[in-house]
Amino acid sequence: MQQQNSVLPQAYAYKGRFAPSPTGPLHFGSLLTAVASYCDAKSQHGEWLVRIEDTDIPRIFPHSEQHILRCIDAFGFEPDAEIIFQKDRLDIYQHVIEQLKAQDWVYACQCTRKMLGSNAIYQETCRHLQLPFQDQAIRLKVIDQPICFNDRLQGQHCSNLKQDLGDFVLKRRDGIINYQLAVVVDDYLQGITDVVRGADLLDNTQRQIWLAQVLGYPKLNYMHLPLAMNDQGQKLSKQNMAQALDIQHAPHLLQQALLALKQAPVDLDTPKQMLQQAITQWDVCRIPNQTQLLGSYQ
Ligand code: GLU
Repeated sequence: MQQQNSVLPQAYAYKGRFAPSPTGPLHFGSLLTAVASYCDAKSQHGEWLVRIEDTDIPRIFPHSEQHILRCIDAFGFEPDAEIIFQKDRLDIYQHVIEQLKAQDWVYACQCTRKMLGSNAIYQETCRHLQLPFQDQAIRLKVIDQPICFNDRLQGQHCSNLKQDLGDFVLKRRDGIINYQLAVVVDDYLQGITDVVRGADLLDNTQRQIWLAQVLGYPKLNYMHLPLAMNDQGQKLSKQNMAQALDIQHAPHLLQQALLALKQAPVDLDTPKQMLQQAITQWDVCRIPNQTQLLGSYQ
């Protein structure tokens, strides 16, 4: 008689993250992402990490890093590992660029914004010029094939990067590591399995999937949340004067965030207790599968 295979499938080791850029203080939109990524990870007995995405030094807003860290604590979030800062990891990203150079996946590009003009699709102007890398932007080659993913909320999304965008920048002329590179490398090195973030990043995802594929990294699961909009129909952002999260009102703001995500209400309590209740009640099916939450969020 054939022996039955007694090995059970391993439990899914979910690892999620919240990865704010300190380009302004956290606002209600950031809170939605933090709450959803936390509850989704914890309801699946997963881990949740925080990573500060601060490679774009000129865009860093004074004191916003401190505000992010204060909010993580005051809103009751408990990261499962030490918080990492991308500005401390530049040599890691450079190492990956060297790897891509050796494999001929990248090339130097001398095109300025002015030279490229309004053309949104890069025409491979520098692809075959063999320019030296010193002080030039570095672009990743893309292919003429659709790249698709199935978002847990937004459904299937595809893009042919060659037709929609062209070879894209991983490192700028001024030496700044592009978000696309840093996010892919860190999600891999931190062992992230699930990305939960705002729908404004939906169409960055195919670039990240392509880069991860080139580097041989495993695929991730994605869930892009609807964005909280202000009364003028704009997404909340520093540019639109979104209000900084006020830690004095953490319990009320948590209630509002869960309400915006259409979750069952939680009792007013300490932020930690409220998050505990939100985790036990967490139901992804209740989150609106749209890219915007109409309302007048501030
Ligand atoms: N750092 C990005 C932001 O604040 C989010 C990156 C991500 O979640 O992939 O918009």
